[in-house]
Amino acid sequence: MAKIQMKTPLVEMDGDEMTRVIWKLIKEKLILPFVDLKTEYYDLGLEYRNETNDQVTIDSALATKKYGVAVKCATITPNAARMEEYNLKEMWKSPNGTIRAMLDGTVFRGPIMVKGLVPYIPSWKKPITIARHAYGDIYKNTELRVPEGSRAELVVTAPDGAETRATVFDFKDSAGIVQGIHNVDSSIESFARACLSYGLDTHQDVWFATKDTISKTYDHHFKDIFAEIYEKEYADKFKEAGIEYFYTLIDDAVARVIRSEGGYIWACKNYDGDVMSDMVATAYGSLAMMTSVLVSPDGVYEYEAAHGTVQRHYYKYLKGEPTSTNSVATIFAWSGALRKRGELDKLPELVRFANLLEKATIDTIEDGVMTGDLYISSQLENKVKVGTAEFLTVVANKLAVLL
Ligand code: NAP
Ligand code: MG
Repeated sequence: MAKIQMKTPLVEMDGDEMTRVIWKLIKEKLILPFVDLKTEYYDLGLEYRNETNDQVTIDSALATKKYGVAVKCATITPNAARMEEYNLKEMWKSPNGTIRAMLDGTVFRGPIMVKGLVPYIPSWKKPITIARHAYGDIYKNTELRVPEGSRAELVVTAPDGAETRATVFDFKDSAGIVQGIHNVDSSIESFARACLSYGLDTHQDVWFATKDTISKTYDHHFKDIFAEIYEKEYADKFKEAGIEYFYTLIDDAVARVIRSEGGYIWACKNYDGDVMSDMVATAYGSLAMMTSVLVSPDGVYEYEAAHGTVQRHYYKYLKGEPTSTNSVATIFAWSGALRKRGELDKLPELVRFANLLEKATIDTIEDGVMTGDLYISSQLENKVKVGTAEFLTVVANKLAVLL
């Protein structure tokens, strides 16, 4: 069989530990035999980030802006222990944080569902994708302890020096606490566009919810920005695609999500997204079956797995012990990126390959062949547990047949 050709290169961001091992195996077994793979390679492994003073992370984000599609391996975010382990010059920032800031992107996380792995909410038949607004609110807050007898005020100083003041609270009878939070229109607008574009892209409804009945200026402003951008830029396209934008109160949204069967994008403010993404991921069963894509408002995509570098398995691997690490989310990062590249470059063969790669992966698990993490929770009767590399070999064999 002739290899599938590509036009534009993918931006390839290599990473750390067990996921770096899996990365290489996925390329060797699942991609290179079938695709004439074109990538622009950036090594975001911690050693090379340290060597380049993290310039490689910045370069990889710039390349992503240039080419439009990237695939990223999980990477170590250094802490004190890693400083010592890797003899680092500095405690480099999280690459994901750097890339997200440079692309002004929103992260969408969605579960990969397979027969045998039943969500804790039995009515969830389709994935629920959570989009978290990753700017501002309590994550960039200013807070103070307030002594009894004090008064707390909000003061906004205009460019001409004019002050607008509002009393937050008079702490006459008790000491207390006070908090100031903010957000900016440009970031909320980017978030709205990313969510609505991703809805169109993946053909799913978009839900958004805030507490606008209580927060009549702050949360209401989020609601207004979404409504305005939807009406002006997306309403016609949504109608044409037969999908819906739906706004409700956050409490109502939570109740509806639990009763729903899934199959939509849930846009969340920063705190809601932090909390709800952990709840939703847990309810679907496994972080190792969760994909993640960063979408910028100007249509740049970076695909990755939602989990980390699986350090504990890597140390076993280094000792030569057998491992059974789940590679599904990383496979889906590759298939997501290749499909998007195929769509943008009008290469139906590449899109077909990406779809069949996902099918081969899911079929393998549904046939009962799975890694240890899934083996524990799968309800299939004929299941067998296989090692990290063995799983990929079975997927490769299936893929060859499907192609
Ligand atoms: P982790 O790598 O996600 O692993 C935590 C645990 O979850 C593992 O020990 C394993 O449990 C289980 N697990 C996660 N992914 C799995 C998979 N694919 N297959 C099987 N089991 C899996 O999180 P962490 O240990 O907190 O972080 C390790 C490193 O990853 C850190 O240096 C952190 O900075 C980095 N990290 C990177 C990203 C990213 O690049 N996007 C995200 C998160 C964390 P058992 O050990 O019980 O088998
Ligand atoms: Mg969280």
